[in-house]
Amino acid sequence: MADFTIIGSGAGGSAAALELLKNKKSVEIFEEGIEYKNNRMTVLESLSKIWRNNGITLFHGKPILNFAEGKCIGGSTVINGGVIAHTNEEILSKWDDILGENFFLSEDFNKKANEVEESLTNENKIAHPEYVSNSSKLLIKAAKQKNYIVMPTKLAFKNIKTIHNHPFGCENSNKNSLDKNYHIKIKKLGGKIKGKSKLLKIYKNKEFINEILIENTEDKSLKKIKVNNLVLSAGCTQTPKLLLQNELVKKVNPLNFHFNLKILCNYNDKVNCQISSLLSHHIREFEKDGVLFMASNYIKPLIASYLSFESSTKIKEFMSKFEFGSVFNCQIRPDFSQAKINKSIFFNDTVINWNLHDKDFEKIKKYLKILSELVFLSGAKEIILPIEKNNQIFNDLQDAIKRIDNLNKKDLEITSVHAMSSCSMSKNDKNITNTRGLVNGFKNLYIMDSSILPSNTGQHPQLTIMTTVKKLIEKNLESNKF
Ligand SMILES: Cc1cc2nc3c(=O)[nH]c(=O)nc-3n(C[C@H](O)[C@H](O)[C@H](O)COP(=O)(O)OP(=O)(O)OC[C@H]3O[C@@H](n4cnc5c(N)ncnc54)[C@H](O)[C@@H]3O)c2cc1C
Repeated sequence: MADFTIIGSGAGGSAAALELLKNKKSVEIFEEGIEYKNNRMTVLESLSKIWRNNGITLFHGKPILNFAEGKCIGGSTVINGGVIAHTNEEILSKWDDILGENFFLSEDFNKKANEVEESLTNENKIAHPEYVSNSSKLLIKAAKQKNYIVMPTKLAFKNIKTIHNHPFGCENSNKNSLDKNYHIKIKKLGGKIKGKSKLLKIYKNKEFINEILIENTEDKSLKKIKVNNLVLSAGCTQTPKLLLQNELVKKVNPLNFHFNLKILCNYNDKVNCQISSLLSHHIREFEKDGVLFMASNYIKPLIASYLSFESSTKIKEFMSKFEFGSVFNCQIRPDFSQAKINKSIFFNDTVINWNLHDKDFEKIKKYLKILSELVFLSGAKEIILPIEKNNQIFNDLQDAIKRIDNLNKKDLEITSVHAMSSCSMSKNDKNITNTRGLVNGFKNLYIMDSSILPSNTGQHPQLTIMTTVKKLIEKNLESNKF
C-alpha cells in the first residue's frame, strides 16, 4: 500500500506527488485519461480522447457557458496554453486573511513560485522576451496607439519560436506539460502513474478513508485498493463531484472562473498568425480590474465554429483567407458571478448552474468595446463579435459598439478554461477544506488541486495551483500532520 494515493495527474496531483516523493513518501497516481504521446491528433480525435466530455462541460444559465478541461495523463496542462503567471499580491493578501496566516504572502511562497516557474519555463529563457509572435505583433501595434501596458508572457514551452498555435495537445514534446516534465522526475523517484484508471467509489470508516474502487476504463474491470492517505487532485469540477457522489460532504463551495470572449477578425494583408506561436505578450493595462487581452488559437475548426451562422460561401471565403485572419481574447475575472455545483436529483451525477450578474454583464460590454477598438486599431478590416445568432460582420467600430450596447445577456458566447475554489481552504472549521488541505471531518482525505484556491486568481492559475500544493505538502510534513 502506498503512503499516498493521488487521484488525477494534472497540475495539483503532479505537484503533490513530486513533493511527497522528494520527502521519501511512496506515491501512486490514478488517472482516468490516456497518455498523450506527441502524435498529432486531428481536432475531433483529441477532443474525444484527451478533453473531458469532448471539450463541453456546460454551466447552465443565461447564457449557457462552456467550460473545458483536460482528461489525460498530465491533466489540463497537456491541452492548456502554457501561460505561467503569478497571482497578484492584492489577491494573495485577501487569501491570507481567509486562512488567518501568512501563507500566500510569505517569502517562502514567492520563492517556491519562482522555483516552479523556473522548472516550467527555463528552457525558453533565451528566446524571451525578444520574441514576438505574429498575433501579438498586431495587438502590440494597437496597444501602442492607446499607450496601454503590454508585457511579455512567460510560457512553459521549450522553444517558443516553434509553432504552438494548436490547442489540442503539444507536438514534439515542445511544451513543458507535466507529463513531459514532472512525471519524469516522479517516475525516477519511484512514483507510479496509472492511466485509464478512474476512481469510482470511496469507502470510509468513520473519519478514515480506507478503500477506493478503481475502474479500468478500457476493459471496465474493477479493482478495490486500500489507501493510507487519499489525495483528490481531480480538478475543480471532478473533485467536488467525487465528494458529493460519495456523500463525503453535503455541499461544496461556489466555483469561481474566468470569462473568455473572443473576437475573430480579418486583415487586408497576410498576417500569418497560424504559423507563429499562439501568443507572446499580454495587454496588462486593465490587470487590476482582472482583465487581460491576448491572442488566441487560430485554427480552422475554431474559425468554422464562429461562422456557423454564415452562408457556406462566406465560410469558404474566410477559410480561403486563412493567412489573413486572427482571434483575440478578452479574459475577464467576474466580480459577482459564480457557479454552483450540485448533486443532480436524477442521476448519481452533478450539475453546474450559474447566473451572469448585471454588473459583470456591464463589465463584459465595457471590455468587449475596448478589445473591438484595439482590433480595429491593429488594422483589421472586419470583425466578428462573440454573440450567438449574430448575423453581422462588422467593418466599422461604431457599428460594433452599437451592437454591444444593445446586447442581450443570453446571446453572449462565453467560454472558460480557468475554474477554481469549489472546495476552497479556510480557517473556518465548518468549511470543506482546512488550511492544510485536509477535508474537515476526516483524518486522511486531502484535496490538492485548483479546487482549494481561496477565490479567483484573476490570472492564469497553473503556477499558483502548483505552488499552493507544494507549500501545503511541506507544511503538513514539517508539522508532522500526515
Ligand atoms: C484549454 C485550456 C487552456 C488553459 N490555459 C492555461 C494557461 O495558459 N495557463 C494557466 O495557468 N492555466 C491554463 N489553463 C488552466 C490550467 O491548466 C488548470 O487550471 C490546471 O491544470 C488545473 O489543475 P488541476 O490539478 O486542478 O486539474 P487538471 O490539471 O485538470 O487535472 C485533473 C486530472 O484529474 C483527472 N480525473 C478527474 N476525475 C478523475 C477520476 N474520477 N479518476 C481519476 N482521474 C480523474 C482528470 O482526468 C485530469 O487529468 C488552461 C486550461 C485549459 C483547459
